[in-house]
Amino acid sequence: MTLAGIGYDSHRLQEGRRLVLGGVEIPGEIGLAGHSAADVLVHAVIDALLGAAGLGDIGQHFPDTEERWRDADSMALLAHVLDLLGERGMTPRNVDCTIVLERPRVGPHRAAIRESLARALALPAERVNVKATTGEGMGFVGRGEGAAAFAIATVQEQ
Ligand code: MG
Repeated sequence: MTLAGIGYDSHRLQEGRRLVLGGVEIPGEIGLAGHSAADVLVHAVIDALLGAAGLGDIGQHFPDTEERWRDADSMALLAHVLDLLGERGMTPRNVDCTIVLERPRVGPHRAAIRESLARALALPAERVNVKATTGEGMGFVGRGEGAAAFAIATVQEQ
């Protein structure tokens, strides 16, 4: 059976923080604030996978009150979620996602982000689609206050 899940996340932009999207560090003076590495894209992908598997959400699995996950590499969280799926005989089939960020522009990094996510998910790159858009100057994204990400994942249940 194929199961689908959605994910959404947003994080505040802050000077002096690292900007990591899909496990790829994007150089610049501004990054994402939050507990752990605040990789907004990986967090959305994690929620999509958990959603497909019927396993709740990222906050239940990695509570920000737990010291264990402080400044955790988001890819380590993703690996943990893939283990949870694997224990249930579930394998990711494809992921599609959209990053919403005013600047820096994601376009030049899109291929690297796609490859990074595909590697982490053990999927061919063509099964992982990464899209990017801006807020067109509107809302919290448009004002440069934060970034958001949407994801959908399908999971095969054996
Ligand atoms: Mg998050």
